[in-house]
Amino acid sequence: MTRPTVGQALVDAAGKLRFAGIDSPRLDAELLLADAVGQSRSWLFANDAGSLSKHAAECFDRHVLRRLGHEPVARILGRREFWSLEFEISPAVLDPRPDSETLIEAVLARVSDRSANLRIVDFGAGSGCLLLALLSEFENAFGVGVDRDVAALEVARRNTARLACDDRAFFVAGDWGAALAGPFDIVVSNPPYLTSYEMASASPEVRNDPRVALDGGEDGLDAFRVLVPDLPSCLTEGGLVFLEVGAGQAQAVGEMARVAGLEIEAIACDLAGRYRCIVARFGRNNGAVEKKRLD
Ligand code: GLN
Repeated sequence: MTRPTVGQALVDAAGKLRFAGIDSPRLDAELLLADAVGQSRSWLFANDAGSLSKHAAECFDRHVLRRLGHEPVARILGRREFWSLEFEISPAVLDPRPDSETLIEAVLARVSDRSANLRIVDFGAGSGCLLLALLSEFENAFGVGVDRDVAALEVARRNTARLACDDRAFFVAGDWGAALAGPFDIVVSNPPYLTSYEMASASPEVRNDPRVALDGGEDGLDAFRVLVPDLPSCLTEGGLVFLEVGAGQAQAVGEMARVAGLEIEAIACDLAGRYRCIVARFGRNNGAVEKKRLD
């Protein structure tokens, strides 16, 4: 059997993906084929008339079959870009969403000194994307990522090595804030927050994420109920908390934070203009976190 050219393989696969109702069939076909041949997308355009090796053709067929089953491209490739860094992902971790970059932006908007000697903790760290993205911005910061799933911790540790943060990021098993004394300057968390209704109506793509990373119980707030009361005891005076929230949850989570003794400083919006990140402070704003320097 003659093997298809790069161009034909793309046209065929994009047609199948379009027929299956995939949103961006051509782009997805290109990303999957680029991975199968071990080259960049631009290589595909330059080699449109070249024929695929047997190995690449088989690998591409397997990728396309998975995409036809609505597995997201990032899951098929096992990697996702977040904050312009490449992260390994596995079935044990949430596929990082661009929405979560709102938290990174919110931290940067408050702590302008990039050489600040910050202590950061990430609760429910998953792939480690929040903590490692922050460490990429704050060169003197160090951080602890907590997750109760050891399979997720393994992925986070590989991402730590991949991003050369071994000496500044530590991923440990734990249940939210229970095991950590701190004190930390900054807490970030993207806990599971989908409601039971959202879980039941999630798209096939979202169903590829681990349930424990998404399911926030009936009203989506179960994880916040456990995590938020622990926050003050993890924080230094003047320390800051950045919590990702789902649609319609900002007010309820803000109120929990206030009851726990935190002061709400801001609610940051994502690129779609939805409230996405609660910013709260513990104690007096003494400027300690903002001006923290290595002496
Ligand atoms: N933002 C994710 C989604 O809508 C949910 C992430 C989470 O529960 N933390 O699929």
